[in-house]
Amino acid sequence: MASEQRFLGEILVRRGALPADKLDGLLATQRERGGDLFDLAVNANVADEMAIAKALADEAALPLVVRIDPADIVTTVATRVPIAFAKAHRILVVRESDAAVHVVCSDPFDTQALDDVRVIFEKTVDASVGGRDRIEDAINRVYEKQAGEEQLESDEANPEDEAASDILDSDEEAPVIRWVNSLFLQAMKERASDIHIEPEEKEVIVRYRIDGELYVARRASRAFMNSIISRIKIESALNIAEKRLPQDGRITKKIAGKGFDIRVSTIPTSRGYERIVMRLLNKSSVLLDLPDLGFSPREYALMDGLIRRPDGIILVTGPTGSGKTTTLYACINRINQPNLNILTAEDPVEYEIQGIHQVHVQAKIGLTFASALRAFLRQDPDIVMVGEIRDHETLEIAINASLTGHLVLSTIHTNDAAGAVTRTIDMGAEPFLLRSSVIGILAQRLVRVLCKHCKYQYLAEDFELEELGLTAERMRTRAARRNNPASRYFPRTVGEGDLFESFDPAQRPMFWKARGCAECSNTGFAGRRGIYELLLVDDAVGPLILKRADAQTIKRTAQEMGMDTLRDDGARKVLAGMTTVEEVLAATQEDVEADKGTAAAAGAAAGAAVAPVSRVGAEAE
Ligand SMILES: [Zn+2]
Repeated sequence: MASEQRFLGEILVRRGALPADKLDGLLATQRERGGDLFDLAVNANVADEMAIAKALADEAALPLVVRIDPADIVTTVATRVPIAFAKAHRILVVRESDAAVHVVCSDPFDTQALDDVRVIFEKTVDASVGGRDRIEDAINRVYEKQAGEEQLESDEANPEDEAASDILDSDEEAPVIRWVNSLFLQAMKERASDIHIEPEEKEVIVRYRIDGELYVARRASRAFMNSIISRIKIESALNIAEKRLPQDGRITKKIAGKGFDIRVSTIPTSRGYERIVMRLLNKSSVLLDLPDLGFSPREYALMDGLIRRPDGIILVTGPTGSGKTTTLYACINRINQPNLNILTAEDPVEYEIQGIHQVHVQAKIGLTFASALRAFLRQDPDIVMVGEIRDHETLEIAINASLTGHLVLSTIHTNDAAGAVTRTIDMGAEPFLLRSSVIGILAQRLVRVLCKHCKYQYLAEDFELEELGLTAERMRTRAARRNNPASRYFPRTVGEGDLFESFDPAQRPMFWKARGCAECSNTGFAGRRGIYELLLVDDAVGPLILKRADAQTIKRTAQEMGMDTLRDDGARKVLAGMTTVEEVLAATQEDVEADKGTAAAAGAAAGAAVAPVSRVGAEAE
């Protein structure tokens, strides 16, 4: 293996695809961590996949394929090679002629793989060389196409109603029903939060949202579009005949033993098709505890201290889809005791928690956050949670509740923790009352967690350290803050061992990336965790609230007292190998939603790009 890798590496160097001085380093890394040289070179940005392909094609005197169009590939022929084999060797059968089987491969010197293909087809193999990622992408598309075709090949669709039994037990024969069921099953396996069904000119495209990103999951012929849409409408009790108006419905389903609540939304598009978005809420999902959400020991200790206070307001802030609701649930779950009366007003109620009383807010009938909260105060509560504070009335009642001896948990829509202070003042809160009620503000974002099966280490780059604030200067100021006796940000009870706190800028750290594998559907990620910025309303920040200081000043002061910013906490999680630098930078860009209105308008203008359900059900976090 090692000599093979050196042999390939030397070809690349000789052909100019890889700088000579990088080879030994890459080979050393390859020996240490396994994997292959090409991946390491491409991932480390020292070589380009097409430059590698060209060098290998030239060396082997084979043609180079620049573009692979899955539409040109005969699916039934290609898929005679098992997908696992195709992916492992990055080899794709393009077509078969009388004399030969034509393949595109990434490594023409992988003679074993080429020989296996020869055996499968019992024909001479005629190989061309292509870029690794392009081949992999084509493999995905071709094999997906096959999955779609197989399931919807039957000519007759016969949608019928069906009881809400487990779809795994269903022996349903109608192909459309089986196809729709398999959509749910696959979505569950891949941990998708939403399923988008989008009719296009020639086919129906299904995309899944996994860890916040949309991926094409499968395609079906346009001929089945009406049956698919009707089937989903029947299941969600929508009007099949109504095709000109948006509709909302829901499906309750058992998928592989887990109960799902699926919210369905249809909208008519200008091209005369309806598109459907379904949001999956897993009713069997367990409530998470704060450490499971990605809280560091220090943040956890601080947060735990706040939620055990008898009164005060704790706000969780961040854009839509940043996991705020999940954090509130985790807080409630932690303090949930039989001797406490806990009431929540939510829109909608997403998890039902034993021992607490939850109210589903319905603005349509006049049951708003404000009116629910006002009623709660007559119900002798200890702790109240309000889904969101977005108007003066709700804010005022929340402040009152806090001042009369209740702990109030809520969310507010701002970019960072300091911004929540100015936002509440803008909503008309009296700074004096705010100062004596708000005890802490937690800002958060979600970052994707690296797949543990395919992640690998690399030496951090200078600009990455710079961007994450892992510099000698920053670490010196942080150390000084830790020794400030007035700081409440460093609870004595929390021990060392935090990679961020103990980071030594003299030692260049290793960061992580992932190459993507079957376990993570080639995304390189599995699941998401939060990064946090917890602002304590202490003796430094309190006076600034009274003075109506701007968010910038509040943030700077809190940092001087020891607050970690979102990016600091992101750096901690990069150091811990939980996520990538890119994820953290993307999640902590300033002004992510500087203008929410503009973003929404842009989404609407992009036609079907933004699904209504992902807005309606936005707090399913
Ligand atoms: Zn993976």
